Amino acid sequence: MNKNELCRIKITDIGTHGEGIGKIDGYTLFVKNTIPDEEVNVLVVKANKSYGYGKALEIISPSPHRITPPCAAAGKCGGCTIQHIDYTQQLRLKQNRVKQNLIRIGGFENIEVEPIIGMDDPWHYRNKAQYPVTSDKSGIKAGFYSLGSHKVVECDDCLIGSRSNAEILKAIKAFIEDNGLSAYDEKTGKGLVRHILIREGYYTGEIMVCLVVNSSGFRYKKELVSALKSIKSIKSVIVNYNTVKSNVIMGNRCETLWGSDYITDKIGELEFRISALSFFQVNPVQTYRLYSKALEFADLKGNETVIDAYCGIGTISLFLAQRAKKVYGIEIIPDATKNAEENAKLNNIDNAEFLTGKAEDIVPELYNNGIIPDVMVADPPRKGCDKSLLELMLDMKPRKIVYISCDSATLARDLKILCSTGEYNIEKVQPVDMFPMSYHVETVCQLVLRKPVVHVDIDVDVEELVQDKRGLASYEQIKAYVLEHSGFKVSHLYIAQVKRKCGIIERENYNKPKSEDARQPQCPPEKEAAIRAALEHFGMI
Ligand code: SAH
Repeated sequence: MNKNELCRIKITDIGTHGEGIGKIDGYTLFVKNTIPDEEVNVLVVKANKSYGYGKALEIISPSPHRITPPCAAAGKCGGCTIQHIDYTQQLRLKQNRVKQNLIRIGGFENIEVEPIIGMDDPWHYRNKAQYPVTSDKSGIKAGFYSLGSHKVVECDDCLIGSRSNAEILKAIKAFIEDNGLSAYDEKTGKGLVRHILIREGYYTGEIMVCLVVNSSGFRYKKELVSALKSIKSIKSVIVNYNTVKSNVIMGNRCETLWGSDYITDKIGELEFRISALSFFQVNPVQTYRLYSKALEFADLKGNETVIDAYCGIGTISLFLAQRAKKVYGIEIIPDATKNAEENAKLNNIDNAEFLTGKAEDIVPELYNNGIIPDVMVADPPRKGCDKSLLELMLDMKPRKIVYISCDSATLARDLKILCSTGEYNIEKVQPVDMFPMSYHVETVCQLVLRKPVVHVDIDVDVEELVQDKRGLASYEQIKAYVLEHSGFKVSHLYIAQVKRKCGIIERENYNKPKSEDARQPQCPPEKEAAIRAALEHFGMI
């Protein structure tokens, strides 16, 4: 195929951005705003060797699921890519997407996928909107980028955003014009106002407005506040400074001009503080449903150790902590872990601990220190879990693995690895529609260990161990000695193992495998030598 060629094709599939896909003599064409089963006249607008992009000129046989999109920007705006498909069919397509990926990529031929959890009202669901600001002859414009480009499509009244946004945008545009401020120009890096960020608490109704400016100071603070503060429910007016010439929306520095530094919202019973820079799920109604499923699949009884890898600001961890003995949340972004700790305090949760670093580095450390999860939760970004983490899960053998995924292709790849040893069964696959009007779909899966191993409870009561029964050194003293003399951090488990090897009898229920089947990480030789030296020092051997 060549650019500017005209052709007639049948759409047979749907691509990752919701675009229709058709084939003509083995050549693949991606055509926006078309639906599977439609016959379409297409103009080829870009042609590569084996695939190209077309523009639908005429829909010859429209799908029965085709509707007139209610938003005037639909088809141009990159946000809602499938608004032209009725919602019931959107859900069917997403359900099928998950199933087909599990079959094609995962090889799970007979997998059952639960009916997708859709929204009763799939409009106005987003609690966050980020509008790029530009200008043309007619004045200041705010909207959204079109798909795959930074061309701003004007949209004052986004139908998936909050109903309050239109009034706020109007006030800010007037403020920009009244004060003669300029809009940022990405090409030149000149101009002041870059983005308008609006966040709204779903349950609390609290609103935050943040203006992102291309400057390290801002002279119109009073004017901005007076343009906004009469709008009902605004709790926070913030300016964010971003002078970096890149497409990263927010800079690192925020200044609160009026009201609070954050807004508060709830997921279930839990409260969260959301600042301008925090990550927070954008669809609060579906987030609650998703997390409830994750909790159901974790099947907690109250005495479990849980690891929540890729925990963000700890939302799932805190949800789980209400029903578990201990939750370890692991997250790569230090600010997010800080938020997670604050959120734990805010909700009086003291059995959740947050660790900063890569999940694939931190989970092995926990395991080496004798922390073996009964339930492992993973909610990785699009690219899925690190392979070494999946392999470690197979080693640790948690009774349940709850995998939450925003990309069913990488989910299928990872589940294939988790099922490769035959020890885990996929019990439940539950798609949840977090992003109506786009083709994204979230999936939560439950994997169950066929033959559970008896894990050893190493969570000893430190008080009881402060002084060893024989009047000799306590675990804490041994740990401290080892750290001081060899630089190693050693766990209670390792000390117990070495003590056992040296013939020092442990309490019956402590650190001893309860069955032949139980596995423990074994103390490495260099740590064993260091522990033996400590035992010798304290006269215990
Ligand atoms: N579970 C959270 C966040 C999920 S998004 C929630 O429901 O809100 C995925 C998170 O994984 C992001 O916060 C991202 O910063 C983090 N992340 C990405 N790579 C990581 C890695 N290698 N180790 C740990 N966290 C990682």
